[in-house]
Amino acid sequence: MDQIKTAQCIYCPSTGPFSDEHVFPAGMGGDDKNFLLVDLVCANCNTKIFSKLELSLMRRSPIGLGRQFLQTKTRDRGSRTSSPTIETKSHFVIDKEGRLLEADYDASGAETLLAQCIIEGEKALYTAQDTLHLKKMYKALSKTLEAPRINLITKTRSDTVSYVVDIYDWLDDEYKLISSDTFKKPPPSGIWLETFTGNQSNFSPRFFQRLAGQLVLRTTSAIDCPKLLRSMRRTLPSMQSKQDEATQSSIEQPIVQIEMAIDSDGAERALAKIGMNFLAFTFGSSFITRPQFESIKKSILTGTPELPHSSFGEEYENVANDLFGNVPNQCHCVMLMAAPTDDGLCEMYFNARLYGTGAYKVLLAKQLPTTDLLLPIYFLINYETNTITPMSMLDYQFKYGVLVERFLEDLNKPQE
Ligand SMILES: [Zn+2]
Repeated sequence: MDQIKTAQCIYCPSTGPFSDEHVFPAGMGGDDKNFLLVDLVCANCNTKIFSKLELSLMRRSPIGLGRQFLQTKTRDRGSRTSSPTIETKSHFVIDKEGRLLEADYDASGAETLLAQCIIEGEKALYTAQDTLHLKKMYKALSKTLEAPRINLITKTRSDTVSYVVDIYDWLDDEYKLISSDTFKKPPPSGIWLETFTGNQSNFSPRFFQRLAGQLVLRTTSAIDCPKLLRSMRRTLPSMQSKQDEATQSSIEQPIVQIEMAIDSDGAERALAKIGMNFLAFTFGSSFITRPQFESIKKSILTGTPELPHSSFGEEYENVANDLFGNVPNQCHCVMLMAAPTDDGLCEMYFNARLYGTGAYKVLLAKQLPTTDLLLPIYFLINYETNTITPMSMLDYQFKYGVLVERFLEDLNKPQE
């Protein structure tokens, strides 16, 4: 595992400055001390490109869900240690009538129905986990809607995050748009506007309150806003009288729909990068500066050409299960594997099972000479202790594999 110092970044032509690159992202439980690429990756690749890709993997991919619920801390930074978070666009549970209801996970990870008022034509339906939350929303809504002026805030994201603030005044029994401007920071108070883009047949516009307290108006079209604000304002008195009899729901077996902000391209490029890091760490920088790795490096850095598909298709499901066996709790398992091809050469794959789910496969290089071939090499990454343990195929299969287990089971089967 020698790391030969190079004058050039292993990913791009830059000659530095270099910065330490985690072989496996620290935010997903990587090792801060022993698994670093030192003087091999330039600061530009590391901080400008890779950090963003890792964020996509951790916060804008299905892996983010595993990270949120299984990993208790991101990394030990003393008081700055925080629980992992994901960016969700929306999170619904479905009630008996098929309505989409706003939900969220509370601090303990439990499914929680948010306080909400769903406007179905002339009808307003209130629902919440309990009346306490409904009362809290009522208070926040009346305070906001009884003011002569309302900020309706829309978060927009292009290169940077900005906030479009529409100001409405209550004039002549109507909400009138006064101004619409874009700001770098949101105003201190107002109602957040979110657009629903899914199947509209079981969706009606609604006002709801997030667990952190923000009021949100979710609707399919921003044009409806003044009308909806007006309906909500008029509904408030009835809400006060009805809130004690409002639906109290505990969701026992909720049907959950979570719409995450997904950046699968970024997440896959991040995975490919992790695979290349393990290769560089294991076989040295001269190995991955071979021309066969040019294409994957370009994909990682720029997104073009697109990466070959990275998750196992159904036909690979069994292969993947056999390869990973029973990954121990609190561990990721990743693996480098060379597969021989008909032309006498081989293809290099990186496989990963993260947070106990999924089997991600990235083709790192084609047409490598087989003389380099080694048996698959495994790395077990314990995301609670931040340790990485390399293991040989045999070691891994004996400890966690199903192949050996199955073989022994067959031996012990009573003969017929
Ligand atoms: Zn570079």
